Order: sequence, then C-alpha cells, then structure tokens
Amino acid sequence: MSKYKCKECGCEEFISKPMQYDIFEHREGKLVFIKSETIEDTLELFCRECTEKLLFDSNDIVG
Ligand SMILES: [Zn+2]
Repeated sequence: MSKYKCKECGCEEFISKPMQYDIFEHREGKLVFIKSETIEDTLELFCRECTEKLLFDSNDIVG
C-alpha cells in the first residue's frame, strides 16, 4: 500500500522545510554568530525529488 507517494513522480521520500536558522550580526567588519532560532510552524512536507507538496494526516507522523 502506498498511501504516501508523490502524485507527480512516485517518490516516497519527503523533506520538511528548514525549521531552524542561525542568526549572524555584523560587528566591526566581522559576522558574529548570535544564536540559532527554531521556527515554530506547522510541519509541511515536500517530495524529495520534485518538491511537490505532500498532503498528509498529522496523525500519521511517527518519530
Ligand atoms: Zn515528486
């Protein structure tokens, strides 16, 4: 059974959007690492091959 399969290309691997980013600040000609921030957002998944957005039931997310 292939419940989750890209309807465009058939790929069964999906990637999330980057949920974390690093903040750097300009100080005296240098770029200084300040901190990492996590984006609190609803999870979205996209086909690894063609980036088609996957529609999924959040109850099916495991791990
Ligand atoms: Zn695809």
